[in-house]
Amino acid sequence: MECMNCGSTNDTTDLLSNNEKVILCVDCRFDLATGKLKLPLKTMGRPFLGITKKVSLTMTKQLWEHLEVKSYNNRSVYLRSLVNRDFQEMIRDNEACLGYAILGAKRLGYSSEQIELLVKAINGERI
Ligand SMILES: [Zn+2]
Repeated sequence: MECMNCGSTNDTTDLLSNNEKVILCVDCRFDLATGKLKLPLKTMGRPFLGITKKVSLTMTKQLWEHLEVKSYNNRSVYLRSLVNRDFQEMIRDNEACLGYAILGAKRLGYSSEQIELLVKAINGERI
């Protein structure tokens, strides 16, 4: 489930407010408890999640059936979670690679200035 206030999936719980179901993540529930967040939500119904683009997708019948089962009839949420998971994995992989490059540079006796330049070069920053 996605938080209706911020879109997070971190420890979400649904609660009732004026007979309307509200799904909030742990951080937004904290904000609600401390008065920082008020109900009804200003974004009630649909939190801002980003840019909407139409996509046409061709897959086998088997994959479509898998999508229907896994998405619980909300394909957008499921597909967004898959893309987000892949994106987070890419970031972790890149950070791990950078860590190995820094480790190797240290073993070669690079100075911290040289390592900083190496990291900037790897990240495509101007040196
Ligand atoms: Zn939230």
